[in-house]
Amino acid sequence: MPNQSMNSKPRAAIIGGGFTGCALALDLQMRGCAVDVYERGDIASGTSGRTHGLLHSGGRYCVEDVEAGRECIQENRILRRIAKQCIEFNGGLFIALTDSDVAYGDRFALGAADCGIEVEELTSVQALKLEPNLNPTLLKAFTVPDGSFDPLRLALAFAATARRYGAVFHPYCEITHLVRREDGQVTGLEFLNRHEDRAYPVQADIIINATGAWAGDITAMAQVDVPVRPTPGVMVAYNQRLVQRVINRLCIPDDGDILVPQRRMVLIGTTSFEHGDVNYIPVYEEQIELMHKRAAELVPAVAQARMRGAWMSARPLIAAQGDARSLSRTFECIDHADQGAPGLITITGGKATTCRLMAEKTADLVCEKLGISAKCQTRDLELVSYRQYYQGSRSES
Ligand SMILES: Cc1cc2nc3c(=O)[nH]c(=O)nc-3n(C[C@H](O)[C@H](O)[C@H](O)COP(=O)(O)OP(=O)(O)OC[C@H]3O[C@@H](n4cnc5c(N)ncnc54)[C@H](O)[C@@H]3O)c2cc1C
Repeated sequence: MPNQSMNSKPRAAIIGGGFTGCALALDLQMRGCAVDVYERGDIASGTSGRTHGLLHSGGRYCVEDVEAGRECIQENRILRRIAKQCIEFNGGLFIALTDSDVAYGDRFALGAADCGIEVEELTSVQALKLEPNLNPTLLKAFTVPDGSFDPLRLALAFAATARRYGAVFHPYCEITHLVRREDGQVTGLEFLNRHEDRAYPVQADIIINATGAWAGDITAMAQVDVPVRPTPGVMVAYNQRLVQRVINRLCIPDDGDILVPQRRMVLIGTTSFEHGDVNYIPVYEEQIELMHKRAAELVPAVAQARMRGAWMSARPLIAAQGDARSLSRTFECIDHADQGAPGLITITGGKATTCRLMAEKTADLVCEKLGISAKCQTRDLELVSYRQYYQGSRSES
């Protein structure tokens, strides 16, 4: 039998151990649920372990995607408080290289003010003084409160804190079926323990699908659908830390518009395209070349830096149609009771930066359905060290 929390608390089964599932485990466990998290790989082995690690200020979204911009700056401030251990709060710059970037700058300043993001306009001389490796032809810049985070540590810090409150994590356990009653209610699931190559059934009062780009695979098990569009992007890392701050191009979101310092490296991203099989996304050579070109436009010394690696991951964007670049980076919490599958909720979309907020809104819905009145407490709770996740047994199934 799997090691589940055997008590009278309402039982919540979370599918997916990325940022969203880990943050949700903490929130729900603190509100009085007995939480089990099932992850088919290890923690953050999906998209969460493969991001730029940019703690967004919201500047990237404040013109075209204001809701996401507001969410980012709110959560940026919260994560800087509760997850200090995972964050290098090094700040960022948006830099203009062309006249059209300069023109975009006016909309950017208005959007940032609208979202409550603190920005300061700099001359090219001031910007180059801060970051001498920037393209010397830059025309102007804005400072923003961006930062860098360590993706694995952030997910583990949420998971370690959730475990401290009693949540149980089941890595290498893949959900293969959802169990439904005749009236459609989703009452449980079946998972394959990949270490043991053995299947187990589990009952739960509520099941939350936090599988990001794989959300559609889970909802298909209950014969319902979800408007998630897996949208991959490439990232390329270089072996020198050529800038200390996050460097963004001052333009409408585009390919290769973000250069992030991570430890002794910088990494550039990203692209946005359609690909059918989210389990096997190729790394296209032409996309690597495009990233290389765009990075060198921001910081010319990239052209001489050695490439450390290139990798892909897929965003779980919400929408059945439309150009992926223009889709909102906000999130959605979907109650499948409306589609005849009560007992199943999907949380998807969003950003790593907004994972705590995504968890809060999902937990609000779960608690409403389970008749729990406890409020969210994660806004002010400092996360325990990510290292604590590794203390004790990691595989709890
Ligand atoms: C290229 C790229 C760069 C990005 N950069 C940034 C950034 O710099 N800053 C930022 O804030 N955001 C960034 N994002 C967005 C961010 O990474 C994602 O929004 C976030 O990681 C999604 O987390 P998640 O937990 O919802 O999904 P995931 O991390 O994908 O977690 C879902 C989990 O579900 C598991 N799973 C799937 N199927 C099953 C099953 N049947 N049974 C059990 N488990 C299952 C998967 O293994 C996976 O671990 C980026 C996204 C991309 C694609």
